[in-house]
Amino acid sequence: LPTQFQSAKIILQRIQQAGFEAYFVGGCVRDTLLNVPLHDVDIATSAYPQEVKQIFKKTIDTGIEHGTVTVMDHGRAYEITTFRTESTYQDFRRPDKVEFVRSLAEDLKRRDLTINALAMNLNGTVIDMFTGLSDLQNKVIRAVGNPKERYHEDALRMMRTVRFASKLDFKIEERTLAAIQTNAKLLEKIAVERIHVEWAKLMLGKNPQRGLNAFLKTKLYQFCPLFFDKEKLLQKLLELPSFTLETEEGAWTLFFFLGNFSDRRAAKLLKAWKSSNDLISTIYKTLHILRLEEEGPLSAWDEYLAGLNCLLYANEAASILGKGQSIAAITQRYMQLPIKNKHELAINGSDLIRFLGIKPGPFVGQILDQLERNVVLGELSNERKILLQAAVAVQNHLE
Ligand code: ATP
Ligand code: MG
Repeated sequence: LPTQFQSAKIILQRIQQAGFEAYFVGGCVRDTLLNVPLHDVDIATSAYPQEVKQIFKKTIDTGIEHGTVTVMDHGRAYEITTFRTESTYQDFRRPDKVEFVRSLAEDLKRRDLTINALAMNLNGTVIDMFTGLSDLQNKVIRAVGNPKERYHEDALRMMRTVRFASKLDFKIEERTLAAIQTNAKLLEKIAVERIHVEWAKLMLGKNPQRGLNAFLKTKLYQFCPLFFDKEKLLQKLLELPSFTLETEEGAWTLFFFLGNFSDRRAAKLLKAWKSSNDLISTIYKTLHILRLEEEGPLSAWDEYLAGLNCLLYANEAASILGKGQSIAAITQRYMQLPIKNKHELAINGSDLIRFLGIKPGPFVGQILDQLERNVVLGELSNERKILLQAAVAVQNHLE
């Protein structure tokens, strides 16, 4: 049994002692067999949620209506999901109602890809009902069962398929790919937020160009928000030397910069993808940084305004475009800035009001802004006395 599963062993044993079946399933089995680190261990069982809750002292109803109960054991959390089928599909979306069943085979059948439909028992024996093992071996992404039917049941699976091609750098099997090609339009039925999650994972995969190639070829992109006319841009991504990305911010920055997006158009597209305001304002900054860098080295003020994270996101994109710098150098320069934000300034607004005898108002802010800039640029040292002195000169100058 792989080491990552060792601590979960006791959980499976307890379920079995109560007279039920229990297995490791899905992504954790796949990743274990691929020898890549896993983030979570999923357990599937023939016990119904109420039965699981009777076996363990401490449980949380994580998604009990879908059959998932979290068991706490020695400070660790394990997600335990009852075997289930998803038989009543409407509207090409995953059904909200699921039916609990006692058979592992039924549960594996409803899964999306053969490599995701593997189970492992306590002895480390793999239960492989759909060529999952040989597909892993041969690096193939294949839908479980009839691909067309599976995509009709849940159109998000098409995005998941191209996402896994990128994530693992696997080839999509022909019939599976053809089924996406003929059913791509069904993606319109899927909530944008869910498409967004898969897109981000696609971009952060081991070989994003492989996923992007399928995304283009199958025309899935045409059914993503404001992507219908982005064929050329996606093609441009494919023509870059092979790359990998660490962050979603880096991915969007690359996308928009390569596509010559204005800030406004970039924000509009991100909104359409239901992005957070955080992501949108970050991308504003990273695009600004990249454009400034076209004109020459950044000033300390530019770096200060951007913040370290945005500098690094911008650098992710710049590196792929052959204009990257070392992360260490960027970080070091940033760390050497005299202050990192306004609050680190040795004086504040009330100091100015008292010392200069002026009234509160925008004028105070203007003086502070000027001093902040001087400090960041190293023109004034960040000391109370020096700043108050300088404030007098700034006041006279502004008046
Ligand atoms: P990741 O490492 O990205 O989390 P994962 O395989 O664990 O990969 P999840 O989205 O966490 O992916 O899903 C867990 C498992 O549930 C999958 O391995 C698959 O068996 C099944 N699954 C998830 N989404 C679907 C879907 N839309 N249709 C069918 N099965 C799905
Ligand atoms: Mg997972």
